[in-house]
Amino acid sequence: MASPERELAVLHAEMHACRRCLEVGHEIVPGAVFSGPVTAQVMVVGQAPGVTESEVGRPFNASSGRRLFAWLAQAGWEETAFRRTQYLTAVTKCYPGKSGKGDRVPSRAEQALCAPFLERERALVRPALLLPVGGLAVRLLLRPVLGAKGVKRLGDVIGRAFVDERGCRIVPLPHPSGASLWLNRPENRALVDRALEHVRRYSEELCR
Ligand code: SF4
Repeated sequence: MASPERELAVLHAEMHACRRCLEVGHEIVPGAVFSGPVTAQVMVVGQAPGVTESEVGRPFNASSGRRLFAWLAQAGWEETAFRRTQYLTAVTKCYPGKSGKGDRVPSRAEQALCAPFLERERALVRPALLLPVGGLAVRLLLRPVLGAKGVKRLGDVIGRAFVDERGCRIVPLPHPSGASLWLNRPENRALVDRALEHVRRYSEELCR
């Protein structure tokens, strides 16, 4: 039987080679973006890589990464150590391209095509703490926890910690890009501070 490291390497090769979306006509830029070892305890799940992430092949590389890592620093994580030891991925792994001024939100069809990869990443890495980042990832990962109610407003779930059916803790975060107006409100920034306190506490229990 292959080691978990080997199985993850095989999965990574499959994701890099994947062209499923292109083959059925979705206009993505091929080249899956993700990083991290099989031993990670924390998994960050974003919406999809942006253009610079796609160009350099590194998740959360540009402005959204600067804010994400500022948040993680508040929770006690240094960026280089986090990138080396923890896992960063997304609901869909390839850059979806532009839509108006921003990046296009991956369609439901693209999400469905890519979903088996995220499921396999979770099954192999088995993170103890999941950090969905942005509305799309938050809604997807909290669906099994909240059921039909789902997530109506980000403000209802940011600042709270959840546990899913696998015993994995989930701390949702808003999208860290400067395009998010949600973060302009002081009461919403206070919710993010509360979320980062959960991340700090769980990280100390799990990883340090
Ligand atoms: S987004 Fe996912 S399913 Fe679509 S081509 Fe990229 S890796 Fe494959």
